[in-house]
Amino acid sequence: MALPRFEGSFTQQEAIPDEAIAAATRVLQSGRLHRYNLAPGEVGEVAALERDYADWQGADYCLAVTSGGQAIQIALRAAGVSPGDAVLTNAFTLAPVPGAIHAVGGKPVLVEIDENLRLDLDDFERKASTGAAKVMLVSHMRGHLCDMERLAAICQAHNIQLVEDCAHTMGARWAGKRSGNFGLAGCFSTQTYKHMNSGEGGFLTSDDPDFIARATIMSGSYMLFERHGAGPDIGHFDRPRFEQPNTSARMDALRAAILRPQLARLEDNIERWNQRYAAVEDALRASPSLRVPSRPNQESYVGSSIQFNLREGDEARCLRLVSLCADRGVELKWFGHREPHGFTSSHRSWHYVTPQEMPKTDAILARLFDMRLPLTFSVEDCQQIGGLIAEAAEAL
Ligand SMILES: *Cc1c(COP(=O)(O)O)cnc(C)c1O
Repeated sequence: MALPRFEGSFTQQEAIPDEAIAAATRVLQSGRLHRYNLAPGEVGEVAALERDYADWQGADYCLAVTSGGQAIQIALRAAGVSPGDAVLTNAFTLAPVPGAIHAVGGKPVLVEIDENLRLDLDDFERKASTGAAKVMLVSHMRGHLCDMERLAAICQAHNIQLVEDCAHTMGARWAGKRSGNFGLAGCFSTQTYKHMNSGEGGFLTSDDPDFIARATIMSGSYMLFERHGAGPDIGHFDRPRFEQPNTSARMDALRAAILRPQLARLEDNIERWNQRYAAVEDALRASPSLRVPSRPNQESYVGSSIQFNLREGDEARCLRLVSLCADRGVELKWFGHREPHGFTSSHRSWHYVTPQEMPKTDAILARLFDMRLPLTFSVEDCQQIGGLIAEAAEAL
């Protein structure tokens, strides 16, 4: 019995909550959109958001910026990456990650992933132990956390600073500790397709006051760092204010105003994503042709997207699955394309990165599919979508 075609949109997000729209209207009426344009005694939306996010994240400091990619670039520079320096990172990630490394003059050194889409820690340890890189930018790609305790221990043993790209793990935890809190810094995105939506935007969090002071000056603080909501004591700015270049990446009051009410709903939304994820996952697991990555006990994830592999088959079979799903109204992304498509990309498409042999990652990406789960889908929608994919897989 064939299921009906799915008619929903995979790129339709929920509306911005009413209280966020009201807050945005107040900012617009005030005319004070720049984060440092404050009335006497006013804290400002951006500073208030930084305080709220630092508290929610459980980090000492938070800096709000224009994008996740900018958060990463600033973090790498503030961590001391200079032109020509090697930076370790996952071979499986999205373009803003190697792009940020390249933007600060760094040289990406790619690390393999395993069949559950987590960083391959044996490969990481091998590459960390050469001493070539002083920074590891781990990208928790599609929300799959590796063993964070082992990752942090390897970094410590080799004197490597750990920066986490948490674009897909805002709200996720490993052994109870929030993603972003395992190393020097956490980088977050509030771009439309992430866990909070301000169109564009991002955060950098850290417990290191000197690091965050350098980052704050770089973000373009015009020496107004005392107007930040979750920054370090003024004394930490003595040197950075003369040494750090301004890269103008400030968040504005309008975006901050729409993010604060969304932060208040984030825990609820994580629950809602995970219900949707579970519904698709159950349906996919019923298909003998498909494999869904395992999730370790220590991991609390945010199921805002789902990934799965075809157990067998070549390029033609993968393309056929994409097309059978499209016929059923289900938009799948496939990571095996030879050329970059939309948000998916492969390390082979980053021609500015020195080519590196990644046989394990390539073999996994060759049959890997990806699908977003916007909260505009109901749990029933997700059951239907999962069923349609399983049906298409059996029809191959
Ligand atoms: C979206 C994303 C980023 C950066 O986010 P922007 O805010 O779009 O710059 C970084 N890493 C990954 C894996 C992402 O998906």
